[in-house]
Formats: sequence, structure tokens, C-alpha cells
Amino acid sequence: MKLYSTKHQSPDVDLKEAVLTGLPADNGLYMPYEINPLPQKFWDHLDDYSYTEMAFHIAQHLIGDDIPSTELNKIVQEAYNFDAPLIEVGDYSVLELYHGPTLAFKDFGARFMGRLMGYFLRNNNKEVNILVATSGDTGSAVAHGFLNVEGIKVTILYPKGKVSAIQEKQFTTLGANITAIEIDGTFDDCQSLVKQAFLDKELNEKLTLSSANSINIARLIPQSFYYIYAYKQLDDKTLPLYFSVPSGNFGNLTAGLFAKKMGLPVTKMIAANNSNDVFTLYYETGRFEPKSSVTTLSNAMDVGNPSNFARIMDMYDNHLENVRNEITAYCYNDEQTADGIKKVFEDFNYLMCPHTSVGYLAMDEFVYENDLNPLYINGIVLSTAHPVKFGDVVEPLIQAHIHIPDRLKSIISGKKQSITMSPSFDVFKTWLMNK
Ligand SMILES: *Cc1c(COP(=O)(O)O)cnc(C)c1O
Repeated sequence: MKLYSTKHQSPDVDLKEAVLTGLPADNGLYMPYEINPLPQKFWDHLDDYSYTEMAFHIAQHLIGDDIPSTELNKIVQEAYNFDAPLIEVGDYSVLELYHGPTLAFKDFGARFMGRLMGYFLRNNNKEVNILVATSGDTGSAVAHGFLNVEGIKVTILYPKGKVSAIQEKQFTTLGANITAIEIDGTFDDCQSLVKQAFLDKELNEKLTLSSANSINIARLIPQSFYYIYAYKQLDDKTLPLYFSVPSGNFGNLTAGLFAKKMGLPVTKMIAANNSNDVFTLYYETGRFEPKSSVTTLSNAMDVGNPSNFARIMDMYDNHLENVRNEITAYCYNDEQTADGIKKVFEDFNYLMCPHTSVGYLAMDEFVYENDLNPLYINGIVLSTAHPVKFGDVVEPLIQAHIHIPDRLKSIISGKKQSITMSPSFDVFKTWLMNK
């Protein structure tokens, strides 16, 4: 697999280099040269494949000879030991992507990336230190994705008292190769400490540092698999196909565009934004104007400068009309998001997290605006997180308690282990040097 930088100022790389470095030096993003249609044989057999069989075939098709097939198969088998069921909810279907260990769709990307990096680092004799700053969800997905991966140590920095209790438990109770540092400061302080560490010469001479950032291509590739898995589960595959994707950094939606390039017959992708509406405004006006993020109920989508916008522009040659042919966009505020959760619960007895609600609203508006008959389309809403993760938002709306899944119960009962630190780079550096 050969990859280029969207800024075209850095050399082409193979998959190993793209995964281990994360970002090209010119500050672009890595993109594969070729995303070709899957062979007819694949589509003919799709109905017979399990998730892992399907994922293996797609991964092999995309990645080619960069990894021996027995190794690739092992990575996929280990990463995907949970399902992604398609559930009928009213006129549409919801693809539940929250059945992994951290109850959010980021498990699909992080578990694949963790194992892929583990493979590339095997026999390397060097221990790699992954540093991650998190405001909540990324930390837990990365921690679980890399848990017990040989040769890798993960350090997670998070702002003390500013992540939810469940989120904190998800990355502080694991132990093994995962260390959590509680910073007496903000998320920005955490991010700044990580950035300084990557730039520090002395640290980089002593340690091999790496990031598990969401823009790593290793997180995007596996997110294309479940779009095809949703299609596999449809009763009538001949109807026009639409996906509504709750979006923040647009990694999820970009992966759907990859799936389309591989031959998935998507009529249109629907980008669903909360009040962080930079992409919706671009869609409406043609102007892309990043701004500071605002806090909403769907906080994993609070992004003011979506990083994968560069990949979307690259795929459609910076042409607004090309983008509009593939994607449409809507945005919703918190009041609409809350009403959406309530209405779908009352009408269909189905509970959504705030992110999924934004996606459901967008699907509904798209169908209404285009005068479509929901009976004659396949409208699929991606559900990105389990509602229990947002219990404080959701429970008052439905005036009931949410049942806590067993895999979460065992996390909640675990013992928190963390190191408290001031937001000082000298302190952080000394700690890393003495590890
Ligand atoms: C990360 C996240 C999103 C946004 O996904 P992007 O790929 O950044 O667009 C949506 N919902 C949840 C629950 C998330 O954790």
C-alpha cells in the first residue's frame, strides 16, 4: 500500500511508516493512492461472511502485501470480538457501533490500530511510548486498543475532574501497559504537554515516542468495514442507500467514502453536526471557516476545525459541487438533540445517545426535504455510542434508569490508578525520563 500526503510536500510512504509516524512532516494527512472496487466475488459471498471474515477480505484488498495474510487475519480476529447489529427503528435502521469494550464506535478504529502497530513493532527491540491527551472518549478507546499489546507503553493525560466518572474509570483501571496521568489543569494543558514532549530533543533521544491520533490512517481503514457490514444486513439491497453519520472530526464519514470507492452502492452520505457547524456552513456557502468549538450534549462532536476535512477536499479535488454530489449536511442544537432522544424513545421505545440523536434528526430532515418515501429507501443512522455513557443527559429526558451492561459494570467496579501532576513540562519530562 502506497500513501501520499494531502499537502504533497512529503515523500510517499508505505503503510508501516504511515502508521508509525501518524502524520507526514508537511502537516498534511496520509491518503492511499488506490482505493479500488472490491472484486465481484467478494460481493457474491458477502451474505456468508462473518464480521471478521468480511473485515479480513476488505483489509487484504486495501493493504495488499504490507502484512502477511495470516498476520492480518489474526489482527482482525483479535480486534473484532463483538458485533455491529443493524436495528430497525421507526422508518430507518440504526447501526449500533457501541458493542465494543468502551461502548463507542472508536473501538473499531483503535483496536485495529493497536494491533497493527504491535505487528509493525515486533522484533524491533525498541519499546514505543504512545502519548495521548484526552478529554474523555479517545483515551478509553486508545487504552483498550493497546492494552497488553507487546512492545508498547501508553501514557494518557487527562484534565483532573473534567472527564465523566465512567470515562475516567475506563482508562484508569486497566493497569498493565497503560498509565494514566491526572493533570491539574485543562484539556489544552494536557495537549500542550504532549506536543512539547514530541518536540523535546533530549526526550526523543532517550525514548521512542508515538501518537495514536485520530488522523492516523490505521484508524480510518477499519472504519470502512462496518459500512459494508450494515449493507450485508439489509433485507432489500436494491433500494437507494443513505448513511447519516454523527460527525466531529469527520473520520467516520471519510471512512464511509472509502467504502463507497470500494464499490458500496451509497447514494448519498449525510453529515450530521451539532452546533459545531463548520462543515454544514461549508456545504451551504462553500466557505470553510474553522472556529473555536462550543460545548454541546454530543460532546465527542465538539470540533471547530475538523481534521479530516483535508482528506475530503483531497478526494473531491477541492470542488464544492463534487462534495455536494456525495455528501449533504445538517446541524442541530442541544434542544433539538434532546427532543430527538425523547421523541424516538416515546414513539419507538428506542434509546439513543445524544450523538446518535443528531444523526437520526439529519436522516429525517433529509428524507423530508427530498420528498422521499422511507419505505423505498435504506436509511441507515450510525449509532456512535451507548446511551448509558451519557446517562446524565439521557435519563432525565426519559425519566427512567438505563440498564448498565455487564462489561461496563466490571469497569466501574475496578480500582482507579493514576498519577497526579501539575501542568508543568519539566515535571512531565522528568517523569518520562525516569520511567
Ligand atoms: C468521536 C465521536 C464522534 C465523531 O466522530 P468523527 O469520526 O470524529 O467524526 C461521534 N460520536 C461519538 C460518540 C464519538 O466518540
